[in-house]
Amino acid sequence: MSSVQVAVVTGSNKGIGLAIVRALCKQFPGDVYLTSRDPGRGQAAVAELQQEGLRPLFHQLDIDDLQSIRALRDFLKEKYGGINVLVNNAGIAFKVNDTAPFAVQAEVTLKTNFFATRNVCTELLPLMKPYGRVVNVSSMVSRSALAGCSQELQEKFRSDTITEEELVQLMTKFVEDAKKGVHKKEGWPDTAYGVSKIGVTVLSRIQARLLNEKRKGDHILLNACCPGWVRTDMAGPKAPKSPEEGAETPVYLALLPSNADAPHGQFVSDKTVKPW
Ligand code: NAP
Repeated sequence: MSSVQVAVVTGSNKGIGLAIVRALCKQFPGDVYLTSRDPGRGQAAVAELQQEGLRPLFHQLDIDDLQSIRALRDFLKEKYGGINVLVNNAGIAFKVNDTAPFAVQAEVTLKTNFFATRNVCTELLPLMKPYGRVVNVSSMVSRSALAGCSQELQEKFRSDTITEEELVQLMTKFVEDAKKGVHKKEGWPDTAYGVSKIGVTVLSRIQARLLNEKRKGDHILLNACCPGWVRTDMAGPKAPKSPEEGAETPVYLALLPSNADAPHGQFVSDKTVKPW
């Protein structure tokens, strides 16, 4: 088994994920895995970074596919005995002018952004080594979507005692309410992406709490973050930040020094903890 440190970034064949891998290749003292659901797109991204003199490694990962997640888990366990840095970056968003019905957008968006990200966490968090760093890429949109929820939902999502099971039930209810056409009446905002990112932020708060309870002495730090509004295929060419600028906060959280005990369980934007 290798004693080399290892960092893994999901959805990193392009956009912010690729920029995170580029930065980690320069700053992280170990192996850095660029992952992609499509091996062809992944290998092309690896080749692009190699042209720049960087040496990322590649592993296939489709976060929507539990077998793919488990194959990566088994590979990392076998080769490295665990993980030092995990960045959950993979995500999707329907374009504003997409004509797909809201119920479809809700189901598809929640499937990847919340349920698949949770599956990655379920499989990979037990592998986190002491002093490990976990970064869940959420969005400022999670905060505006939270503000658009009913008071009752806001209280649940801000609760310090909400469980992962309760969160899963709420995310499932949102999809069901969208299918029945009653999501607004039930207190949800009119944004599937926003609700999916509420899920990512709240999941991060819950997971950080569980780490405090179960692995206090291991000094693992886990946070959610917003990269800012970034020029990628997802956000379009008008966004103010380059992918490299978008990578700054996730990379800062991924490389928090071993003597840091904060931030942990926070929502971080521009390297600053924001209120939830
Ligand atoms: P992007 O350019 O569209 O890249 C998204 C990446 O995620 C791609 O590599 C994509 O792979 C991958 N992906 C999607 N579904 C996947 C799956 N099932 N399994 C594995 N990989 C998957 O988007 P981005 O702007 O870089 O976004 C990265 C993250 O930042 C997302 O979580 C997004 O929600 C968040 N974010 C972005 C902004 C912004 O302004 N751009 C703002 C706030 C938050 P394919 O190439 O195969 O599709």
